Amino acid sequence: MNEVLRSAGLTCLKLLNDAGYEAWWVGGCVRDGLLGRPVQDIDITTSALPEQTMECFQSQGHNVIPTGIKHGTVTVMMQNFPIEVTVYRTDRDYQDHRHPRSIQFVRSLKEDCARRDFTVNALCWHPELGLQDYFGGQQDLKMKSIRCIGNPCQRLDEDALRILRALRFSAALDFTIESETHAALFQKKELLRVLSAERIAREIEKMVIGRRWPEVFTVYHELLAVLFPQLPALQSPAAIQKAFGAFRLCPRITLPRLACFFLVSQQTPLAVCLDQAQRWSRQLKLSNHDRKSLTQLVQNQNRPLPKNRIDLRRLIYELPDLSTEWIQLQQALRRLSAKQAGQWIAAIEEIQSSDCLTLKQLAVNGYDLIAAGCPKTEISVCLNQALSAVIEDQVPNQKEALLTYIQQQAKPESQD
Ligand code: ATP
Ligand code: MG
Repeated sequence: MNEVLRSAGLTCLKLLNDAGYEAWWVGGCVRDGLLGRPVQDIDITTSALPEQTMECFQSQGHNVIPTGIKHGTVTVMMQNFPIEVTVYRTDRDYQDHRHPRSIQFVRSLKEDCARRDFTVNALCWHPELGLQDYFGGQQDLKMKSIRCIGNPCQRLDEDALRILRALRFSAALDFTIESETHAALFQKKELLRVLSAERIAREIEKMVIGRRWPEVFTVYHELLAVLFPQLPALQSPAAIQKAFGAFRLCPRITLPRLACFFLVSQQTPLAVCLDQAQRWSRQLKLSNHDRKSLTQLVQNQNRPLPKNRIDLRRLIYELPDLSTEWIQLQQALRRLSAKQAGQWIAAIEEIQSSDCLTLKQLAVNGYDLIAAGCPKTEISVCLNQALSAVIEDQVPNQKEALLTYIQQQAKPESQD
């Protein structure tokens, strides 16, 4: 773990303890720490009420942001790290399978742990008191198992997001899902319909880059089908098999992995895949950038592999910012080895740093063309033609040569 983060997390515990409150690291940081995985952030659970937490840190000159005060959470800025500090609480009377109608601040750590989703997410740690494990989380970490705390059906009923979280943690941590929790996921799959697009998107983006995602996909694709019945990857056993193969070979990078949901097959020709990718990314409210990138990857999935430098330049020109992801998708579709793909990507980087690929890099600009007598309305067409010719190695990227080329193009009839 990052030493500064660790020290910030320990200082938070100490300040709360010194003020007379209990405080523990909890959840992902303890789980990932025990697994030897990188820890990105630290969550703290404490017996202090949110106002008491604020007072405790503010009185020592620390900045505190009341990020989720209704839920008992404040964010303490400690050595530039935001640390979430939440009061011991339980969640009561879930409504709409997502939000608790009320939450109650409680006195005991055990009650707080009981509201958490999975046993491996309910481990607590304190530098002097050690690990606190009320629900067998350590054993499940050893077994590499995702298991709901309490009755799985009831826990998924309370909050349907836990269905996707189970798949996500299984994929990311390379864990299997314990049998009762596994059965409950299928039993409660229809509840997925209540989740918001943003929540679903966030979980799917994390899920598909998980180490175990290909296996999770084969076992749990029926759950995804509740949300996305038209997804090309789910249209037939052959499509599922094909997507599984692609996921296995595709590097763990979001966009190429998402593109593996939209592979052309007998059931789904390219036009349908493209249409589905557009609808899907709109349904999930992906950003404009991601929407465009995903559709471009899907559209170009069967573009031939580049054979020479000119092909590579064309690829970079036509898929700007996306050529690396395209190669990564090809790694899955054409079984390129990681080494081969790495060589392509290195070649792309070399070309990007040395060759002319954009209008900006062209040795002539609009003013040069005006000076050479080009009508204003033709400038954009002429510049693009010139760029195309440079990319195709038909003319060097030099001012004189380009002006001559443009003039020749402008009056082809008068040449003979
Ligand atoms: P990561 O940050 O790697 O995604 P995490 O375990 O820290 O994993 P968070 O979403 O940050 O997950 O939540 C922190 C903790 O809060 C979890 O470990 C879990 O104990 C609890 N938690 C989060 N979401 C839920 C939920 N929907 N139901 C029950 N407990 C939850
Ligand atoms: Mg977290």
